[in-house]
Amino acid sequence: MKYIDEFQDPELARRLLDDIHTTVTRPWALMEVCGGQTHTIIRHGIDQLLPEQVRLIHGPGCPVCVTPLEVIDKALAIAARPGVIFCSFGDMLRVPGTDRDLFRVRSEGGDVRVVYSPLDALRLAQENPDREVVFFGVGFETTAPPNAMTVYQARRLGISNFSLLVSHVRVPPAIEAIMTSPDCQVQGFLAAGHVCSVMGVEEYPELAERHRVPIVVTGFEPLDILEGVRRTVQQLERGEHTVDNAYARAVRPEGNPAARAMLADVFEVTDRAWRGIGVIPDSGWRLSERYRDYDAEERFPVRGITTAEPAACRSGEVLQGLLKPNECEAFGTTCTPRTPLGATMVSSEGACAAYYLYRRLGGPVSTTTAQEATTVG
Ligand code: SF4
Repeated sequence: MKYIDEFQDPELARRLLDDIHTTVTRPWALMEVCGGQTHTIIRHGIDQLLPEQVRLIHGPGCPVCVTPLEVIDKALAIAARPGVIFCSFGDMLRVPGTDRDLFRVRSEGGDVRVVYSPLDALRLAQENPDREVVFFGVGFETTAPPNAMTVYQARRLGISNFSLLVSHVRVPPAIEAIMTSPDCQVQGFLAAGHVCSVMGVEEYPELAERHRVPIVVTGFEPLDILEGVRRTVQQLERGEHTVDNAYARAVRPEGNPAARAMLADVFEVTDRAWRGIGVIPDSGWRLSERYRDYDAEERFPVRGITTAEPAACRSGEVLQGLLKPNECEAFGTTCTPRTPLGATMVSSEGACAAYYLYRRLGGPVSTTTAQEATTVG
């Protein structure tokens, strides 16, 4: 399949690996930011093929995983209200809130629907003018533009029974938070290529310079990851710390101007809490004043909901790269994709789910295990 097979070529992978092995002279710790990259790394065993000196730390780039428990509880409260149609992508339905998930709300009579686009939710609002339709808008710079566009459309079409429960987050402030953490071990970043395809790379040079870390924009196929690692390690060995685009087939320096304009119109930057990490300044978006009417938190009485993270789940450490999933006491025992204690075990991009799917007990993956984990997204 074009654009897939050619980025999984074993001969090219071997050459890239040889180059990395030849280049490395001392230990380096790199963080891949995106959960999609984590899955590629674990699925293909890339971390096991790299030189021992190159350690990959899994970053916080899974949108479902970083959505705070408090926001999940707000979603559950809204979804349970009579007269509401609550719409979400499928991967949010099994994310546990304090005492239930969206599947449970649906089984108890709530009208919870899986949609494939926020525009599907807007269409439901048009078709059901006597109901309140809410879309659960979570994620990074990749999912924010279509959600912004949907709110823009709702206003343009005069659809007033639609609202958005917003929990959007931004990558650059997360990199800042990771680099200023006292426990930080990261020396170089594989930046998330899809995020940069929207936002471009202009926010990164200042970060790279100030923290003296190379930031290499990286794609998602095995050869993309290897090329990202190769370029990052080359910079580290040379003592450099620049921004490099290893995903030029998708990323232009300026990103996607139309998407950025839509984001700037509909959203404004705000402080946002990340699950297990806490509040990171300027790390999220909320609806701007012009569109505040479409904010579900304004429309429904959920502002008072505050929830502490459960002590049993160590996903905050996993999301900061301080703990490997299989180092968590609950991993594979009390916490599995069928009985998740945290979002990182539920999400199709979660690091715990990746470890469970591809590495449980360190042995071959059973068919049952694979099926179990691939149905959670
Ligand atoms: S294995 Fe489960 S309990 Fe442990 S960090 Fe991952 S999601 Fe949380």
